[in-house]
Amino acid sequence: MTTTWSAERSVLERIVAPAGRAERVLHVEHVPPRPARPVDWPAWTSPLLVDRLRARGVERPWSHQSAAAELAWQGHPVVLATGTASGKSLGYQLPVLSALLEGDATAIYLSPTKALAADQLRAIRSLSLTQVRAATYDGDTPPSEREWVRSHANLVLTNPDMLHFGLLPSHQRWSRLLRKLRFVVVDECHGYRGVFGSHVAQVLRRLLRVAAHYGASPVPVLASATVAEPGVTARRLIAMDVEEVTDDGSPRGALAFALWEPPLSELTGEHGAPVRRSATAEAADLLADLVIEKVRTVAFVRSRRSAEVVALSARRALAEAAPELSSRVAAYRAGYLDGERRELERALHDGRLLGLASTNALELGVDVSGLDAVVITGWPGTRASLWQQAGRAGRAGQDATAVLVARDDPLDTYVVHHPESVFGKPVEAAVLDPDNPHVLGPHLCAAAAELPLTDDDLVLFGPAARAVVDDLVRRGLLRRRTAGWYWTKRERATDLADLRGTGGAPVRVVEAGTGRLLGTVDAAASHTTVHSGAVYLHQGDSYVVESLDLDDGVALVRAEDPGWSTSARELTDIAIVETSRTLDHGAVRLHFGTVDVTTQVVSYLVRRLGSGEILAEEPLDLPPRQLRTRAVWWTATDDVLRAADLDPADVPGAAHAAEHAAIGLLPLFATCDRWDIGGVSTALHPDTGLLTVFVYDGHPGGAGFADRGHRRAGEWLAATRDAVEACECETGCPSCVQSPKCGNGNDPLDKAGAVRLLTEVLHRLGG
Ligand SMILES: [Zn+2]
Ligand SMILES: [Zn+2]
Repeated sequence: MTTTWSAERSVLERIVAPAGRAERVLHVEHVPPRPARPVDWPAWTSPLLVDRLRARGVERPWSHQSAAAELAWQGHPVVLATGTASGKSLGYQLPVLSALLEGDATAIYLSPTKALAADQLRAIRSLSLTQVRAATYDGDTPPSEREWVRSHANLVLTNPDMLHFGLLPSHQRWSRLLRKLRFVVVDECHGYRGVFGSHVAQVLRRLLRVAAHYGASPVPVLASATVAEPGVTARRLIAMDVEEVTDDGSPRGALAFALWEPPLSELTGEHGAPVRRSATAEAADLLADLVIEKVRTVAFVRSRRSAEVVALSARRALAEAAPELSSRVAAYRAGYLDGERRELERALHDGRLLGLASTNALELGVDVSGLDAVVITGWPGTRASLWQQAGRAGRAGQDATAVLVARDDPLDTYVVHHPESVFGKPVEAAVLDPDNPHVLGPHLCAAAAELPLTDDDLVLFGPAARAVVDDLVRRGLLRRRTAGWYWTKRERATDLADLRGTGGAPVRVVEAGTGRLLGTVDAAASHTTVHSGAVYLHQGDSYVVESLDLDDGVALVRAEDPGWSTSARELTDIAIVETSRTLDHGAVRLHFGTVDVTTQVVSYLVRRLGSGEILAEEPLDLPPRQLRTRAVWWTATDDVLRAADLDPADVPGAAHAAEHAAIGLLPLFATCDRWDIGGVSTALHPDTGLLTVFVYDGHPGGAGFADRGHRRAGEWLAATRDAVEACECETGCPSCVQSPKCGNGNDPLDKAGAVRLLTEVLHRLGG
């Protein structure tokens, strides 16, 4: 590792001191401190609000807060994209609360979760501004209170789901609020990506249209984590030009950020592949060591179950090394009551608690900024999430430490070996596709049910709207009259769209014996998550699925923690329906278009928790499923294969390995999850007559992921090749070409062949 050694050893230096640790640190980035830039209050800020904020210790706003507030006040749509704990909320609170204090205005605040809206409500109420009648309106709001919110609130804190199902369909009852609507705040807007983001984009268009009907033209104010091109993402969400404020004026201490790769373990995996020590085991050790150093630390993990495993392992390690400290480590579980969350915050702040293992649900529920160190267990999906977690480290004026611990998969391995992907110029704008007809259709129906759709409206709903409307008319869902298109059915049009799902009746997860309904699972995901034998996690509790009845849509489960996890494996077939775009490089062609995918879950792997050791593979008998979606695919002629020195017998293994690694790396470019996409490779595909590698969107109609892959194919395939080539294994391992969901048991895979094939393909692409 390269770092400067100061007289006093840094936190990082202390935790890499034990033998064998230093070589796990592949890079340390020293992020310099940033000075504070306070400015004067905007001249229009309500004096009362200034008084109240000063009483709470806010002497003056930071420059970015004032800049965003000023733009919003002048009526410009604006997105404020700055780091965690930079006080983005003041940027929208200043114009919103000032307008409400002036009287005769209302505002809507949208957050992706109820917890965040509750936090925001608490913050606003603590200012004791009697003219601000703020209230949350969500699934938990009792009917008696809903009436009060409709008739009296001038600031309604809600979420996209409630807008969709509650407020918009009965907009007449909300006319008082809508008529005077001056601001619409969209908080945490970087989280609106993929299918969910596409739905939210359409809900926001519906809101703006309905507000216009009441004569209001509210100013959208968006808040985002630090992302590339926040204005582009914001524009995709609200279909209008948006000003960006990205220059952060809040102070920050220096941050030492380490990229960490766990060592190879004693275990061997499939086909004798080397297996790395799990990221959770490594994170538990780091957490224990940091607690011994009296460094206040949060370890972020992916699942609630992992949070408990990490906290428990850290406590065990402490019980041996420093028993007096073992009680000062806890796990954060979902389902904590408000009071419990506050107590947890206090314990962390005053140092009674030194270590916490948590899912990133905590990001939205508990205020834990001001820590000394953060351990991030595995790439959290996007750079925005990574920095949001890392940004929890750093108290005023003090240096802080962050560690990203890689998991044993191609993406994490690539990231820790390529610091520029974390610390270089950000390149991702959130991927969403509001034009997907599967998303757009239901919202056009809902919009028509709210108010008849006119030709002008179709412009707002995007270039695909007209064709989709015509299709809805053909299907008898909409009817054309002189004033526009009408919804003609008696059912609620909003029931056609499930914002957080991908269509189809969800499968209910029911506890055997008690009949208690634990939750639901998307029909599309049910084969992979609640097949019989699957370990199903619900709010931190472990269940084992006894049976999955597809006809009734019920999965019966029993409470049990067998000490392992399961992951489904599936076989995939693909047929090309239509090619939309082609990049023709002669012997190599890159396509994007519509495909029909047939998948069948054929087995599942059983892995020991903690080590990840494969204990068994159990067969499953489930019917195939059909999916029409979008895909990116490339073809290569025999000429390319010869140039890559591939014998015909080697081609299937090389293509298969390239496909697995490409699926692993796409999330770096398309802000998706490995499980959101799938792939197929074949030495000779019937539709192309050539070697073809497909990567497809796992959602009906696509979520924009394959589209992004096509647009950035050169960088994506180069990263794929580099990741495979750089892996230290001999013939393929989970860090490069083996995939946990491969229905062919990761056979055949030709790692070296994949590198030669991808190199030749990139050469033909001119890269
Ligand atoms: Zn490998
Ligand atoms: Zn495979």
